[in-house]
Amino acid sequence: MVDLKGQYGNIKDIVNSSIQEVIENTAFINGPKVHEFQKNLESYLEVKHVIPCANGTDALQIAMMGLGLKPGDEVITADFTFAATVEVIALLQLTPVLVDVNEDDFNININAIKKAITPKTKAIVPVHLFGQCANMEEIMKLAKAHDLFVIEDNAQAIGANYTYSNGTKVKAGTIGNVGATSFFPSKNLGCYGDGGAIFTNDDNLAHTIRGIVNHGMYERYHHDVVGVNSRLDSIQAVVLDAKLPLLDTYNKARQIAARKYNLAFKDLESITIPKTVNGCDGICDTCDCHVFHQYTLRLNGVNRDALVKYLNDKGIPCGVYYPIPLHKQKAYLDKRYNESDFEVTNQLVKDVISLPMHTELDDQQIEFITSTIIKFINE
Ligand SMILES: *Cc1c(COP(=O)(O)O)cnc(C)c1O
Repeated sequence: MVDLKGQYGNIKDIVNSSIQEVIENTAFINGPKVHEFQKNLESYLEVKHVIPCANGTDALQIAMMGLGLKPGDEVITADFTFAATVEVIALLQLTPVLVDVNEDDFNININAIKKAITPKTKAIVPVHLFGQCANMEEIMKLAKAHDLFVIEDNAQAIGANYTYSNGTKVKAGTIGNVGATSFFPSKNLGCYGDGGAIFTNDDNLAHTIRGIVNHGMYERYHHDVVGVNSRLDSIQAVVLDAKLPLLDTYNKARQIAARKYNLAFKDLESITIPKTVNGCDGICDTCDCHVFHQYTLRLNGVNRDALVKYLNDKGIPCGVYYPIPLHKQKAYLDKRYNESDFEVTNQLVKDVISLPMHTELDDQQIEFITSTIIKFINE
């Protein structure tokens, strides 16, 4: 699904020498390299504060801790996402309220959020799924009207732009009160281990969070709040710093690959190509709203599982993100849910398939993948 080795080949010299330097300087944790990366990411995202941490799941959890959410507070998030999002809500003894997503962009549905808001609702967690932002303009309006926090799960959309209806562009993850991202190796900006970060423009919240990631300490050995131990190490920071200047190029390579896939599939009735809803059509050359963490098709009247097997037999990896709606997962069952409220997610889990998507896909590979899929459909 990804080609991390090919990508490494192009940055090998700088990555190797910077890792060597970290080892020689022995500042493994919270060293100057972590700070340098933090500053560089702040300027790339045009956000006031980046707080690096150990992984994307921690980033979400720490964001929620920083906002002071209390047990019993309801937090609305999407039913169609990776479990990390709902997991941390539950871990903090907040009440996850899962809602349905849109058919076109697979992101959290605004009307479903409206329906789920109660006097206990305290936050919304939009997940910018597969690389494009949820409808942040409407989400921010709802949050304002109901006095809710917005925590963006930006693990899949780093570098994507969000375009407001007046044309203003901002980076994904910097719109809500706080954003969380992951640097897991296969993410659009991935390190060579685990890593994550929290973003915010709120000075007070940034201060609170900087203490939480470090055992609740604001002054050495003074523990003012209950914190965690969640740090990005210097080796991961130098890998990320080597890749950050290339992030736009990496995302562009993904967009170009997506465009080629789109052109191959766009006239097939049995395939719905991913829809870009914020700013462009996904086939244009100037797409900046979707960074294609995943390239995900919807199949119409095609046996998905047979196609997965057919592709695997031909040596083509593919994935199903996600095969089971979160509201049907044993850990997250809740009597409040009605199946009729999850029509879209219940259908998507049966129809979606994600194709290989990374920065090193070449024309020959894309041609082999698309022609194999078309052959299966025509058989
Ligand atoms: C990857 C991912 C996470 C978790 O990130 P980790 O670094 O693996 O903990 C959270 N949310 C979403 C949507 C993700 O894709």
